Amino acid sequence: MIGQLVDWLREADSSRLDSLWQQADRARRRHVGDQVHLRGLVEFANYCGRACAYCGLRRDHQELVRYRMTADEILQCAERAVAYGYGTLVLQSGEDFGTSAAWVAALVRRIKQQTPLAVTLSLGERRPEELAAWRAAGADRYLLRFETSNRELYARLHPPRAGEPATDRIALLRTLRQLGYEVGSGVMIGIPGQTFDDLARDLRLFQELDLDMIGVGPYLLHPATPLADPARSPAAPPSDQVPSSELMTCKVIALARLLCPRANIPATTALATISPDRGRELGLQRGANVIMPNLTPDTYRALYAIYPEKEPLRETADAGRAGLADCLHRLGRRIGTGRGDAPNFVARTGQAATPQP
Ligand code: SAM
Repeated sequence: MIGQLVDWLREADSSRLDSLWQQADRARRRHVGDQVHLRGLVEFANYCGRACAYCGLRRDHQELVRYRMTADEILQCAERAVAYGYGTLVLQSGEDFGTSAAWVAALVRRIKQQTPLAVTLSLGERRPEELAAWRAAGADRYLLRFETSNRELYARLHPPRAGEPATDRIALLRTLRQLGYEVGSGVMIGIPGQTFDDLARDLRLFQELDLDMIGVGPYLLHPATPLADPARSPAAPPSDQVPSSELMTCKVIALARLLCPRANIPATTALATISPDRGRELGLQRGANVIMPNLTPDTYRALYAIYPEKEPLRETADAGRAGLADCLHRLGRRIGTGRGDAPNFVARTGQAATPQP
């Protein structure tokens, strides 16, 4: 199995790749249909207590101006999501221990009381009791990428916080599932040191974890991170190093769709960033069925700089809506209605994540 996946990841023959794209697109249509679900993304805080070697939000990036949105500002974004007809609000932040678990729980409760939106959280590694409190408050889904299944590479990229033991994102994903969340994870593609074998094992792990949502995107270098210095973060030998490219990202989306046919898979912002003209469209044609338009107010959005060059995507919230509908129409797809729970989750639990208020 790993060998076959490696072969696909290394495949260069265009007719064989065409057959991969077709298989993935057929599986997408059969298992999750033609609807493309839109998730309104709110990047509500860029404070982060971690020192991830790849991320521009890392706590040691001292030039970055930090912000936290207020609950009222976030509620305004939720109202826009409703007005645009989205079914889900995704709340994402750095691993910000300045946002207390009680504050997040109260925010989730307000959103659930005042809107029909499903709520997805992506707040990093928090304690099981915090994750449980947010679930009890009504949070439906949680996204936590394991980033790479190679433990040694992971330890290099993701050092523990001072005085704390190393954390285990795989164990946390299992906890999230036990708590009844719809669970999402994923990896970056082409991070220095990531081999084809590693990436094949990542795909296999998506399947083993029986993920409901899978988010993958190309690694993009941020100059203020340790990965910008090749001496500190060596690449694998050239024949083994995975490239951070549009093609490799599309291969991973297609293979993820075939391995986890009932998962929701976004065409991610990072893919659209390396390929502004066609990344999102290609993702949707090669297995993806979700888009996450950004609802973060512009003043904050520029500061949520996990990697540079997000400017080309600034259309997504307002002006981009008509363009998006046209694009989906051209692809023979349509904007999804309702919450858009993953068929995998619905089949496992026999229900939507939480009853509508
Ligand atoms: N703090 C939360 C966490 O760690 O899960 C959520 C925010 S974090 C910025 C969201 C995702 O951004 C990470 O899981 C990582 O995969 C991605 N990311 C961070 N830096 C990146 C980079 N330089 N290139 C591509 N993706 C990156």
